[in-house]
Amino acid sequence: MDVVNVELGQKSYPIMIGPNSLSQIGPVLKELNLAGKILVVSDEQVGKIYGDPVLEQLSAAGFTAELLLVPPGEGTKSLEIAQLVFTRAITMGLDRRSPIAALGGGVVGDLTGFIAATYLRGIPLIQLPTSLLAQVDSSVGGKVAVNHPLGKNLIGAFYQPRAVIIDIQTVSTLPERELATGLAEVIKHGLIADAALFTYLQINHRQITGRDAGALTHIIKRSCEIKAGVVEQDEREAGLRMILNFGHTIAHAIEATAGYGRYNHGEAVAIGMHGAALISCYLGLCTPALVAVVKSAISKYRLPLTADDCAPADILSLLTRDKKTVGGKVHWVLLTDIGKVVIRNNVPDEVVSRALTELT
Ligand code: NAD
Ligand code: ZN
Repeated sequence: MDVVNVELGQKSYPIMIGPNSLSQIGPVLKELNLAGKILVVSDEQVGKIYGDPVLEQLSAAGFTAELLLVPPGEGTKSLEIAQLVFTRAITMGLDRRSPIAALGGGVVGDLTGFIAATYLRGIPLIQLPTSLLAQVDSSVGGKVAVNHPLGKNLIGAFYQPRAVIIDIQTVSTLPERELATGLAEVIKHGLIADAALFTYLQINHRQITGRDAGALTHIIKRSCEIKAGVVEQDEREAGLRMILNFGHTIAHAIEATAGYGRYNHGEAVAIGMHGAALISCYLGLCTPALVAVVKSAISKYRLPLTADDCAPADILSLLTRDKKTVGGKVHWVLLTDIGKVVIRNNVPDEVVSRALTELT
């Protein structure tokens, strides 16, 4: 198993990556001095495939394990569903030392993380991410949240897991569209921090989309290292962590304008990265050739470059409402080269509008 350690002062935790690593969950939790009761939260889709094997491993290791299935989909990141999970935690008698595990994609991870952060003011959280997006992004870094009807991720916390166990094998059952959405975040990691990873994505397209275990392990490990590296320097998003937001300013607006569900997160990020590259180019930060390289990588993984059904004016008005707006100014993460970004808070609206016109 490959291990990436996330060092956050006193709270360090391992990200374990390997084929069949879920079969090691018992020993891994024991190593962390966890014992007793454990609640595993999963969605119906993932739980039906991986729920029983995980429960068996936990029972074999001496845990009293229960599985709680929630409906799949973004709607599950709600206070109503959180209430159901709290009720189950209370009725099964989870105490402060009892872990809770998130077995699933980013939805289950964010919801379960929110429960872990708040139930009894915090219980041990184990992330068992099964979607590529969760493996390369949401399970690492400690942002947990549920949505409010008025906006995504508005109710949450920074809460680090005790361990992240990534089983490469789970990618084999992931629907095609979900694989692509995770790859958008991997492309993002290459663009913001690692030209070598970006080149790897360009060259090894066939292996990656063919779900070759070696290729997946490489891109997942590298993504975790990049994200962990950024989070270690800026856990609470005071500065550097903002670079992880590359492509996300426009993405969040597109997700909201098009109605949640029309574009999934990675698809919106792909369009947003195209937009950020265009803005970078219009400001003279990078060349049109660089924009072409970014577009080609996005298209190669069958991710969208444009949101034809959105109006530029709608996107523009939503941009200023983004959570990442500081003091009323949008902080744009812009590209100067592959693997290099800068942050600008003085991008004129005309430049943004010009890019949005190309995207819609
Ligand atoms: P998701 O959790 O909805 O999973 C996508 C779909 O794939 C679901 O239908 C799920 O049932 C299915 N699935 C997952 N793993 C599977 C597997 N191995 N086999 C078969 N089906 C599988 O969505 P997601 O894309 O994983 O995550 C999106 C969420 O993550 C959003 O809510 C977003 O806000 C959040 N997010 C959080 C962070 C963070 O830092 N906390 C970062 C990025 C995204
Ligand atoms: Zn994202």
